[in-house]
Amino acid sequence: MVKNRASTVAALLESSGLDAVVFLYLPNIRYLCGFTGTDGVLVATDQSDCFLTDSRYTTQAQAQVAADEIREYKLKLDGLVAWLQENRCCRVGFEAEHVPVATLEKLKEKSGPQIKWVALGKEVESLRSIKDEEEIAALERATLLNEEALNEVLPLLRPGITEQEFALELEIALRRRGGEEKAFDFIVASGERGAMPHGIASDKIIKSGELVTIDFGVRLAGYHSDETVTLAVGEPSSRLQEIFHIVLEAHDRAMAAVQPGVSFRDLDSQARDYICTKGYGDYFGHGLGHGVGLEVHEFPNASPRSEETVREGMVFTIEPGIYVPETGGVRIEDMVLVTAKGCRPLTRIPKTYRALPLSI
Ligand code: ZN
Ligand code: ZN
Repeated sequence: MVKNRASTVAALLESSGLDAVVFLYLPNIRYLCGFTGTDGVLVATDQSDCFLTDSRYTTQAQAQVAADEIREYKLKLDGLVAWLQENRCCRVGFEAEHVPVATLEKLKEKSGPQIKWVALGKEVESLRSIKDEEEIAALERATLLNEEALNEVLPLLRPGITEQEFALELEIALRRRGGEEKAFDFIVASGERGAMPHGIASDKIIKSGELVTIDFGVRLAGYHSDETVTLAVGEPSSRLQEIFHIVLEAHDRAMAAVQPGVSFRDLDSQARDYICTKGYGDYFGHGLGHGVGLEVHEFPNASPRSEETVREGMVFTIEPGIYVPETGGVRIEDMVLVTAKGCRPLTRIPKTYRALPLSI
């Protein structure tokens, strides 16, 4: 297991009185032992750990996985249960969020009454929420790609181009710079479509006088960027411009309130309360933000229902929005790194009001 991450697993084994803990969720497996493939299982006791995978990945695992043993299986669950039995494990923890009921039933059936399966929570997700220097550097490289790629394709954002065409150009620009894969299907929502918080780029033609919300990101070295800009093409209505400035202020207020010890619920309300006082509370239906790392949406969540607290080293998004049916919408999203006293944005694209064309 990756050195500084093994101690948390050891603590988990001890505090839960477990003989072993099993990891079946790929982002957590990657985090703990470095495996980047698409199938395998990691199991750890206080004595040793083992990564099990199938023949497609044995060579890759030998090259990249930090584990005492790498073992090949023909059938994953059989291989796992055999290892647990060989190591005389009786109480075995598993990540309840990531193991389907059917898989658990099969594990119980194969292991018999000798093994007691103990449901665990989001311990690894909590650990993953605090980024180390290497992870922060990877996230910054991904956000740099966002800036460079958007700058390259911005001259194409003109009346007449479709949302899909623009999204494709943006994706190509990201991939050409070394991006492994788009982080998600890009949202390019222009005009009235801006009222859809998740308006995936469509064949709609972008027109003058519209706001265009562009939510995009890329994966690089396993880590993601996630950023939203809302840009004006020509001169949108004064109401849309007003909405833009309300969202920007809400975004700035939330960002200014970030510091270790603040609850995510309070952070969310910094933006939400401001939007409410401006009369748009009913039009901000989603949470303020989410963690970003090996997954584009990961622990923790910032929302009115959030129970978590902001901690130094966390990276999460701040992305308030207002979406008015039949009118349009605005979202502004940045990724921030929590520092000792506040936060530092990792995303680089300016979020102030910008009307295109910036120059003829
Ligand atoms: Zn986003
Ligand atoms: Zn996001």
